Amino acid sequence: MTTPNPTGCVHCGIERRIHGRQYTKAAGWHSWQQPTQQQIKDRMRARRDERTRP
Ligand SMILES: [Zn+2]
Repeated sequence: MTTPNPTGCVHCGIERRIHGRQYTKAAGWHSWQQPTQQQIKDRMRARRDERTRP
């Protein structure tokens, strides 16, 4: 499993330019919504961890 783009949608992690309308179980149908600063930080950290994992 890959970590979503840090600036991807708050609900599904898809980038704004390719998002359009997406469906997730939790959020239902939605358009791109900006992630919170905390979410961006968490995703960046998760990505770094993935890269450094053997
Ligand atoms: Zn989304």
